[in-house]
Amino acid sequence: MARTIERIPLASPSPGTARHLVVHRFGAKGARPRVWLQAALHADELPGPLVLHHLMPMLAEADRDGRIPGEIMVAPLANPVGLSQVVGSVLQGRYALDGAGNFNRSFVDLRESLEEAMAGKLGADAAANTAAIRDAIETLLAEQHADDESTVLKLTLHRLAATADIALDLHCDDQAALHVYCGPRQVDAFADLAARLGAAALLTAEDSGDTPFDEALTRPWWRLIERYPDRPIPADTMLSCTVELRGHGDIDDDTARRDAGAIFDWLQARGAIAGEAPPAPVPTCRATPLDGVGPVRAPHAGLWVPCVEPGATVTVGQVVGHLIDPMLPADTGRLALKAPVVGTLFARMRPGLAKPGDRVAKIASPDSIPQRRGKLLGDR
Ligand SMILES: [Zn+2]
Repeated sequence: MARTIERIPLASPSPGTARHLVVHRFGAKGARPRVWLQAALHADELPGPLVLHHLMPMLAEADRDGRIPGEIMVAPLANPVGLSQVVGSVLQGRYALDGAGNFNRSFVDLRESLEEAMAGKLGADAAANTAAIRDAIETLLAEQHADDESTVLKLTLHRLAATADIALDLHCDDQAALHVYCGPRQVDAFADLAARLGAAALLTAEDSGDTPFDEALTRPWWRLIERYPDRPIPADTMLSCTVELRGHGDIDDDTARRDAGAIFDWLQARGAIAGEAPPAPVPTCRATPLDGVGPVRAPHAGLWVPCVEPGATVTVGQVVGHLIDPMLPADTGRLALKAPVVGTLFARMRPGLAKPGDRVAKIASPDSIPQRRGKLLGDR
C-alpha cells in the first residue's frame, strides 16, 4: 500500500481554533512489525523533525519497492499544541501553558490496570500472550478520557504507539552530544542504534520516577514479566527509547541526513525494512545507569559560562564552567563549578543566566550514585 497521510483532529481549546496531528503511514495498515516514530514532543526541539524529513523519502522509496513488511508510522511534529505557544516571539516548548505540565511526563501509567486485566489470562504461548496483552492495552487506553487539548494530545500519541513493536521518540537537549535513554532490559537492541548514531551516552533506567512517553509504552510489559515469571512474555516485544539529537541549535541537513540513514539502517537490522542492514559500527559509548548521572548544579544565581564541550570526558573535580556574579568584584564574583563524577559530559545548559539549583551540566558516570533517587529525569 502506498504512503498515506492522516490528519487527526485534537480537541479545540477555544472557539474558532482547531489543531491536528499529522501522521504519515508507510507499508500496510495494521501489519507487523509496526513502528512508531515521533519528533518534537517538547515542541521546541526541532532537530528531530528535520531527521524525519530526511527519513521519510527513504521510507517512501522502500515502500514503493515493497520492502516494508509491516507498517511504519511517522509523526514529524508530535506536538502541534506546543508549537503554537509563541510568547513574545519565542517558542515556549516543554511545558503546556494550559497547565497540563511537562509535555513528556505523566502519560497514562498502565502498570496496575494491565496487571489486573491480565490476571489468569496468560498461558504458555508467548505469541498468544503478546496478542492478549496488546488487546488489553488497547482496551485500557480506549477507556481513558481526556478533556483539555494537551491531555488529548498525549492520549492520542499513546494510543497510536501503544501496540507498536518499535517506538522512537526524538528529542534534543539544550546543548548536548547525542545520547539515548532506554530501559535496562532493552540495552542490547538500543546499543546497536546508539552505535549507528554515534551516541556519547546510553542511559538506562527501569523507572525514571515519572511517566515519559517511552516508559509509558514499555513499563507495563516489564511489570507483567516481573509479576508472572513463569509465563513467556518477551521483554523486547515493545521496544521503545528516547533519542536526544544533540542540542536545540544542532539543526543542519548533513547531520540530519546521517541520523536518518542510521535510523533507517537500524530499522532494517530490526526487520522493519527488508534487506540486509550494514553492520553496526564500533560502539562509541557503553550503557550507564541514569542514576549514575552526576548533575553539576548552580548553588546560586549567576551567569553560567561553560568551558567543557558536550561529549568530552571529565574527571572528578575538573572545572566544567564558571558561575559569575557580575555585581561583585571580579576576584570574588567567579565560582568554578566542578565535575562531581568521572564520565562523559553529555549535556549542558546553554551559557546565560542560571537560577539556584539549575543543572548546568550532566555527566554520565559508570556507577550508580547512592544519593540519587526519586525523579531521575528532573526538569532543570
Ligand atoms: Zn525533550
